[in-house]
Amino acid sequence: MSLEDKFLLNFFHNNFDTSLLSPDELEDMIRNTNKEIQKHIESQQGKYDEFILKEKKLKSVTDNFWENYDNSNMSNTNILWELKKARKLLKTHKNIIIATGSGMSQESGIPTFRGSGKLFSSKELEGAVPHKGYQFLLDYCKDKEYFVLTSNIDCLFNKAGFDENRTVETHGNYNRLQCVKNCSSLTYPSTKDMQKCPECGDDLRPNILMLGDRYWCSKDVKVKEEKMDKWIEEKLEDKILIIEIGCGIHIPVIRNYSELLLEKYPENISLIRINPDYPSIPDKFLRFRQGNRVSTSRLEERCILALQSILP
Ligand SMILES: [Zn+2]
Repeated sequence: MSLEDKFLLNFFHNNFDTSLLSPDELEDMIRNTNKEIQKHIESQQGKYDEFILKEKKLKSVTDNFWENYDNSNMSNTNILWELKKARKLLKTHKNIIIATGSGMSQESGIPTFRGSGKLFSSKELEGAVPHKGYQFLLDYCKDKEYFVLTSNIDCLFNKAGFDENRTVETHGNYNRLQCVKNCSSLTYPSTKDMQKCPECGDDLRPNILMLGDRYWCSKDVKVKEEKMDKWIEEKLEDKILIIEIGCGIHIPVIRNYSELLLEKYPENISLIRINPDYPSIPDKFLRFRQGNRVSTSRLEERCILALQSILP
């Protein structure tokens, strides 16, 4: 007996005294009820298909993640747990700091400091296009409040559509120029026409911080940093999530900043660290706080795949 027949039998048994019906009426009734049941099943089928589709989609993302995952340092259970924590953190926070290092630009074809061993050319920078990880983040941030903090000079966040006023580029960016002597603490948009400093007539250079750079003009960055500090103070009570991507340990400016905030405001700051080489978070930050509140997640993966796997 099919499930359908069973349902039908049960239906009649409980609701009707079929002995009162003529054989024709009984047949009609069975036919109509059958139609109703079929309709009901069909209406549920849509929902069921939708559910299966979602499951399949989720599975393909997860499978993709596993295929590309190098789990030499983390067990599978850990990875699942870290993914779960990351998703939860993304879901429960409204205030976001996106903190990135050279690993974030890598998938847009810009080599990391460590990977290249040389500085990139301005042609490489101008030609670089933001990869889809930027779009994932932008979509995620559309109903959030955010700041971007990056040591990258490639302007990829601005190219992708992030608010320039909320993007703090700690090492400057290649799109602005300054006087080689930094005579005025002013910077200028990079255009072909402007070759010399309008203040003193000396040469202009990109407003990018080099190693041991005494003449770098840091004024633009300072202004935005102050704005961000103020914003952090305002939002602390409401809690802030740092999504840190591709910040290595060789020039760990941004990485240190995340940990500094975590150390200073342990109850109010959470951190998702995405890094294929150095995903670790110091033990002192891994403990549970406030009962079961989760405050960190580490993902040993490149930017695009990691974001694809955790963003809603
Ligand atoms: Zn000058």
